[in-house]
Amino acid sequence: MTEVLIVGGAVMGASVAFWLTRMDPGLRVTVIEPDPSYATSSTALSAAAIRSQFTTPVNVAISRFGVEFIRDFAAWTAPAGGVPDLGFRENGYLFLTATEAGARQLDTLAAMQRSLGAATQVLDRAGLAARWPWMALDDVVAGSFGPRDEGFFDNMGLLAGLRNASRAAGAVWLRDRVTALEREGGRVAAVLLEQGGRRAADVVVNCAGPRAGALMRTMGLDLPVEPRKRTIFVVDAPGARHPDAPLVVDPSGLWFRPEHGQWLAAAVPACDGPCAPDDFDPDHALWEDHVWPALYNRAEGFGAARAVRGWAGHYAFNTLDQNAILGRHPLVPNLYHANGFSGHGLQQAPAVGRGIAEQIVHGDWVTLDLSPLGVQRVLDGRPFAEAAIV
Ligand SMILES: Cc1cc2nc3c(=O)[nH]c(=O)nc-3n(C[C@H](O)[C@H](O)[C@H](O)COP(=O)(O)OP(=O)(O)OC[C@H]3O[C@@H](n4cnc5c(N)ncnc54)[C@H](O)[C@@H]3O)c2cc1C
Repeated sequence: MTEVLIVGGAVMGASVAFWLTRMDPGLRVTVIEPDPSYATSSTALSAAAIRSQFTTPVNVAISRFGVEFIRDFAAWTAPAGGVPDLGFRENGYLFLTATEAGARQLDTLAAMQRSLGAATQVLDRAGLAARWPWMALDDVVAGSFGPRDEGFFDNMGLLAGLRNASRAAGAVWLRDRVTALEREGGRVAAVLLEQGGRRAADVVVNCAGPRAGALMRTMGLDLPVEPRKRTIFVVDAPGARHPDAPLVVDPSGLWFRPEHGQWLAAAVPACDGPCAPDDFDPDHALWEDHVWPALYNRAEGFGAARAVRGWAGHYAFNTLDQNAILGRHPLVPNLYHANGFSGHGLQQAPAVGRGIAEQIVHGDWVTLDLSPLGVQRVLDGRPFAEAAIV
């Protein structure tokens, strides 16, 4: 019986296990995950949002399937998923631009996204002001908005439903950490475990999130994935209550969205670089230096805003092109990757898990061609850039 070991059991590992058990009940699937609380996983610490507004067709298509899956989650994971609904709030994303060139670019991208089934609209400043009169738009030229299929959902519900359904279909969850991948010739022969012992494998899937690069180094291979800290602030702004607001991506690098009567807001730090894998201290200075001024400038009612708390999570940051690295490793054909998602892996989990399972079971991508995101481009040093990284 083919033994598949999945290293990392957050959303990506759970999705691969879900699809594998569905596609081939004859496989022996084991997910190795050290922390059942998921306290420091990107999955638990994410902003839990989905959008069709990407700059590469493959990422649009991946999220198109993601939203379909999220809408019908209970049916996909029935009967054992145990999560009746992911509480999808379809508020949309709004990308603002401050330049004419940016507005033309939004038009081009919106046409590409619509050709793939998205509903993206580009609004000029007057159109934006009519729809969101509480925003300050003097410096804005245009914005692109997704009126459907974009918004926020229950991240941990997605993980739990996939995990429960895969378990019910036979996948085993092992509480342990992989300390090394053992190479034998051109294959991964086994994984070594922190609690002792060695597990032989026919197939290994790297779903180790921000630690995916470190895992690869244990078998002497490079993967350009490193942890980068992102701090999200929970903002109380009594003067700004707009529960139907979209997730706004500001030209300043700020993003913000409503959350249960408050707001979530974040920005990329000016000095962005790799962080220690166990450093989860929020970057409090970012609030005063960047996030609050940008919020104050963009919308009414943020004058008296307070950051009531904040948390830091890690992007699995792909330093080559900030895009996912997916599928079979050309030099190690029984090793598969679901890595490097930066800030958009949660929504990609349904399509990526399905794709990896297809490669393992059928030998190739079947429902969606994910080859632009394959490992070969990384080995060749050929970036496939996604410009809409939030
Ligand atoms: C602040 C923030 C905001 C985000 N917002 C969004 C968003 O709005 N929308 C979106 O789509 N995405 C978002 N993302 C990205 C998204 O959360 C991730 O891309 C996605 O959760 C990746 O899932 P994963 O399973 O690959 O990684 P993770 O969730 O990080 O899980 C990796 C798992 O691997 C385990 N592991 C690591 N090393 C080993 C080992 N050696 N042995 C065994 N197990 C191991 C870990 O314990 C962990 O549970 C955000 C991320 C962050 C940090």
